[in-house]
Amino acid sequence: MPMDAAMRIGQGYDCHRLVAGRRLVLGGVEIAGGADGLGLLGHSDADVLLHAVIDAVLGSVAAGDIGSHFPDSDPQWKDADSRELLRCALALPALRGWRLVNLDCTVIAEAPRLAPHIAAIRASLAALFGCGEEAISVKAKTNEGLDAVGARQAIQATAILLAEIS
Ligand code: MG
Repeated sequence: MPMDAAMRIGQGYDCHRLVAGRRLVLGGVEIAGGADGLGLLGHSDADVLLHAVIDAVLGSVAAGDIGSHFPDSDPQWKDADSRELLRCALALPALRGWRLVNLDCTVIAEAPRLAPHIAAIRASLAALFGCGEEAISVKAKTNEGLDAVGARQAIQATAILLAEIS
């Protein structure tokens, strides 16, 4: 690490409702069959994991949040691919010299079982950040049947990252 490099942490959280007639996209990966046939409701593709990751990226440089850069009142982001939102975030002037050191995420969902999809999600995130998959951790939890996540009404995600700015 160069002497003048700064290390920054960022964290993000998101939650989207599960509804019929929508796709389930997590970390840029479409999950066939969704969550027992349900998908995430939102203005964009409602990729709850990427939204948490984007907030962590923005938070690491105190550059606002996803809603301030990509408002859901803006038709430009209607049904947007959230991978494009992350690419736009990473291209912001505030992110100049920014490089991901590592990212650690948790998806909280009662369904589907995410273990078979973790490798693809890690690869998708690594491609977006242009880093190795060893820098990307994606974990899955259930909510043990409790609250709206447990009742399969929503999926939540959290993300925390470390970045180096040179
Ligand atoms: Mg969101």
